[in-house]
Amino acid sequence: MTTARDPAFTELLRRKVRGAVREGDPLARYTSYRIGGPATVFDPADAEDLTAGLMVARRSGVHTFVLGLGSNVLLPDAGMAALVIRVGKGLQRSDHTDSLWRFGAGLPAPLVARRTAEAGWSGLEMMVGVPGTVGGGVYMNAGCHGGQWADVVRRVWVVDRQGEVTERAGADIPFRYRRSGLGDLIVLEAEVELVPANPGDLADAIARHLAWRQAGTPFNQPCCGSVFKNPIWTGEPPRPRERTAGQLIEASGLKGYRIGGVMVSPIHANYFVNTGEGTAADVHGLMKHVRQTVLDRYDVVLEPEVKVIGSLGEWLEEGATDE
Ligand SMILES: Cc1cc2nc3c(=O)[nH]c(=O)nc-3n(C[C@H](O)[C@H](O)[C@H](O)COP(=O)(O)OP(=O)(O)OC[C@H]3O[C@@H](n4cnc5c(N)ncnc54)[C@H](O)[C@@H]3O)c2cc1C
Repeated sequence: MTTARDPAFTELLRRKVRGAVREGDPLARYTSYRIGGPATVFDPADAEDLTAGLMVARRSGVHTFVLGLGSNVLLPDAGMAALVIRVGKGLQRSDHTDSLWRFGAGLPAPLVARRTAEAGWSGLEMMVGVPGTVGGGVYMNAGCHGGQWADVVRRVWVVDRQGEVTERAGADIPFRYRRSGLGDLIVLEAEVELVPANPGDLADAIARHLAWRQAGTPFNQPCCGSVFKNPIWTGEPPRPRERTAGQLIEASGLKGYRIGGVMVSPIHANYFVNTGEGTAADVHGLMKHVRQTVLDRYDVVLEPEVKVIGSLGEWLEEGATDE
C-alpha cells in the first residue's frame, strides 16, 4: 500500500498542488493536546488546490485525513500513513448580505464569533471560546451556552473524496448532538443565518462566556475540551439528562487522576490535560479507566466526544458507529 510518507508520492503531490507539503511533520504541532507523531502534511492554497490534492491521493491509493485546528482529535503517537490535509489559511473567505454570512471552513470559530458580534449579528457569539475552525465546528456540530452550529447553518459546500463539490441545505444534514453525519465529506464553506442584536449586548455575552471558561475550565492547558459527551437518558419515561459527564467523573473521585503525562483536570473533570510529556497511549489509558470506573459506579456508558484517530485517518474509538 502506498502511504503519504512515500517520497515518490510527496514528489508527485508537490508537482500537482500549490500549497505547502511537509514530510515528517510532527502532528503534535497542530493539535490542542500537543500529541501526535510525524506525517506528510498538506496546506491547500484554496478549495481548488484541496481538491487537486485529494485527486492525487486517490489516484495513488493514499488515504486522506482532514484536520482543522486539531482541537477535538487524538492523533496517533506513531504518526499517520494518511495524507493530513489542513483546512486553514487557504480557506478563510468571509462575507455577508444582511443576515446571511458565508465563511470559509478554515476560519477560526472564535474570530467568526467576534466578527459577527461586533457587526451586531447574533447566533455565533457563544463560539468565542471554542478553539476550532468553522469546518470542524460544522462537522462536529460544536456547541455551548445553549447554541450549536446546527441552529444557524443554512447551506454548506462540501467536496467528497472523489473530488466532487456539491451544495447541501442545512435542513438536509442529519445533525445530532456533537455530530453532523457528514461522514467522508469535507466542508469547504458554510452559510449561516444570524439575527440582528445590539453589539453592546453581544460584547457582554462574549465577556461572560470567556469568564466562564477562564474560571471553570483548564482553557489554557493542552487539552481537547470535553473528552466524553454528556449522557442522555434514553429510558422510559423520557427524562432530560441527569448528570453531566464531568459530574459523573468528579463524583467517581477521579479529579487529578493521572496516567503517564495525562491527567483528569482538577478544574473540570471532563477535560484531560497533557502535563507535558503526555502521549496518545496515556489518553487512551485514561479514557478506558474513567469509562470503566463510571460504568461500575453509576451504570452509565460514557461515549467519547473526542475523535480518536488511527494511522489511516479512521475513527478508532468504540461507540463510534454513528457517523
Ligand atoms: C479548550 C477547549 C474547549 C472546547 N470547548 C468546546 C465546546 O464548548 N463545545 C464544543 O462543541 N467543542 C469544544 N471543544 C472541541 C473543539 O474545539 C470543537 O469540536 C471544534 O469544533 C473542532 O474544530 P477543529 O477545527 O479543531 O476540528 P479538528 O479537531 O481538527 O477535527 C475534528 C473532526 O472534524 C473533522 N474536520 C475538521 N475540519 C473539517 C472540515 N473542513 N471538513 C470535514 N471534516 C472536518 C476532522 O477530520 C475530525 O474528524 C473544545 C476544545 C478545546 C481544546
